[in-house]
Amino acid sequence: MTAERRAAEFDAADPLAGYRERFTLPEGVIYLDGNSLGALPKTTPEVLRCVVKKEWGEGLIRSWNSAGWFEAAGRVGAKIAPLVGAAPQEVIACDSTSVNLFKLIAAALQMCPGRKVILSESGNFPTDLYMIAGLEAQGLATRRLAERERLIDALDSDVALLLLTHVHYKTGAMHDMAALTRAAHEAGALVLWDLSHSTGAVPVDLNGASVDFAVGCGYKYLCGGPGAPAFAFVAERHHPSLSQPLTGWFGHAAPFAFSDDYAPAPGIEQLLCGTSPVLGLAALEVGVDLIAEIGVGRLHQKSQALSEFFLQSLDAQGAVLECVSPPDSGARGSQLSFRHPEAYAICQALIARGVIGDFRDPDVLRLGFAPAYLSFADIAAAAGHLAAVLASGEWQRPAFSQRTTVT
Ligand SMILES: *Cc1c(COP(=O)(O)O)cnc(C)c1O
Repeated sequence: MTAERRAAEFDAADPLAGYRERFTLPEGVIYLDGNSLGALPKTTPEVLRCVVKKEWGEGLIRSWNSAGWFEAAGRVGAKIAPLVGAAPQEVIACDSTSVNLFKLIAAALQMCPGRKVILSESGNFPTDLYMIAGLEAQGLATRRLAERERLIDALDSDVALLLLTHVHYKTGAMHDMAALTRAAHEAGALVLWDLSHSTGAVPVDLNGASVDFAVGCGYKYLCGGPGAPAFAFVAERHHPSLSQPLTGWFGHAAPFAFSDDYAPAPGIEQLLCGTSPVLGLAALEVGVDLIAEIGVGRLHQKSQALSEFFLQSLDAQGAVLECVSPPDSGARGSQLSFRHPEAYAICQALIARGVIGDFRDPDVLRLGFAPAYLSFADIAAAAGHLAAVLASGEWQRPAFSQRTTVT
């Protein structure tokens, strides 16, 4: 049976097939980069129009009370919570992932007096490593990096915090969250998981694994839009001892008491710093509602089926490409990464054919399978395009080697 025929059968049996209609996707595009910027939910423009025209234009300052602006950060956080195995009062939507990393790394250092080492994985997402470096430059932390396989050996009595990304941005490899959290706790360290490539794509059980802290991204699988607010999780048992250094007025116990002295809010609100980005939160809430409606379990199942089907389709076309993602779909997130010395040009040749993936330096072609809006027909077609690009050598056209700023 041809890949197209099999795709049609899979699509006909796909319980999530109808959700594609809930997103805006341009004609002629197969979007395999939802792991970098999620697609636009169809209702987002109308929701934003209402927030701007009615709540801002007509309600003006009154909307902080009457339109739920003040509560938005906590409300959206509470909706993200069940997607990551957290309680509603343990998650808040705010700032960027980078800023949330800073706040929580600093909080962890404060909670582990006498320990300064932040242990992470070499090759972790750059911002995670840079945020540790910034605290190191302030004399507050010592950065220690270990290879993935040596992380547990690198845990000792100097480590305050183990900071890891659950699903690796480049390879899609997924860590065993429960085992690594347990190992860190046994070494007397706290744990902070970056869920940027997990949230909305793979099941996560923060409380099941007794995780201390987590952060995650709003514009990837949660479809909150470019630069959407991120989120932060702090286990409730740590709320009484939580202390973070970005002590802005929105994290105050009573911001509108206008006191000269800072007093942190007792709960997760302490992680707020400045005024909440109301427009960004409104867009994020639409994405979170939609992903929650579909359900992470079903999304994960479909993403595994999509990526397996992609590999089979590629294989059936005789295309040979080194896959650097784990072969077992249960051990990876919702993406497949391929290594090729000309990965950049191949990615550009695919984009010229309407198949949007991305390139990660130095030699990785990364294809994301956002299950909420991709069909099996998309996957069969994308595999056909990739096989054709490789077989024809069309990636060798000089135009495909011109680097842009954002890859
Ligand atoms: C996307 C991503 C981020 C994003 O950080 P920003 O502060 O939003 O730019 C952080 N960490 C990881 C692992 C990511 O994949």
